[in-house]
Amino acid sequence: MAGKVYIVGAGPGAADLLTLRAASVLRIGEVVLHDDLVSQEILDLVPRGVHVVNVGKRCGRHGNSQTAINALMVEHARDGKRVVRLKSGDPAVFGRLGEELDALRAAEIPFEIVPGITAAAAAAASASITLTDRRAASALVLLTAHRCGNAPLALPAVDPENATFAVYMPGPNYGRSAQDLMDIGLLPETPCAVVSHAGRKTEQVRTATLGSLQSVTDVPAPAVLIVGEVARASLTATAVPPVEHSSVL
Ligand code: SAH
Repeated sequence: MAGKVYIVGAGPGAADLLTLRAASVLRIGEVVLHDDLVSQEILDLVPRGVHVVNVGKRCGRHGNSQTAINALMVEHARDGKRVVRLKSGDPAVFGRLGEELDALRAAEIPFEIVPGITAAAAAAASASITLTDRRAASALVLLTAHRCGNAPLALPAVDPENATFAVYMPGPNYGRSAQDLMDIGLLPETPCAVVSHAGRKTEQVRTATLGSLQSVTDVPAPAVLIVGEVARASLTATAVPPVEHSSVL
């Protein structure tokens, strides 16, 4: 009998930001295939004896092609296993979920998706930013600055002055990301916050304007960049150290 694939969002990395549903799926999984960005804190919740494989791939290091990952999921499920495909944040946000679902559908493997807290939401919480504060933003655009080629950012069909942009994979060249956003109509005075390790004990919030973003360097990855009027308050706020949360898990 075919097993099942659970595609699970691991959230931004802190164990207590994992959903209860994700935690219970982790307890019953027989094989875990995870991305590079899934934190050790989350992996520590996997019961001993479970087969855990890092299938992560970074730009320029294609150790595991998407085809190989798809094949692994299908193979283990055909063996009758409960497979957990663990992705950072939410699996449907910059997580190549589409390709994996296509492969599972083609192989007629049952699957279930467990959503997770995406980096933009975690970063907004860390920087006390209201992503869609109705006084400043009527749209939230999630976009990626990552490209292996040289393609410019896609021009979003929103008023750039009335929107918040959450840029995934914005570094290491923050000046380049800022320039891309100014090229699509954002002003150099637009406030922004770079949130690194959002929701983790090691989180850091750095603020700037788009025009001064090139001076933001040495940001530990992963980081997300939030741009828009909604980040204005954090420009002037005094930094408050993150609160220690006791884990309920
Ligand atoms: N599916 C994930 C995104 C994967 S793309 C999600 O929904 O969050 C990887 C990018 O996500 C990173 O380069 C970074 O921009 C962002 N990211 C992931 N975890 C993060 C964290 N804890 N803090 C800040 N950014 C993070």
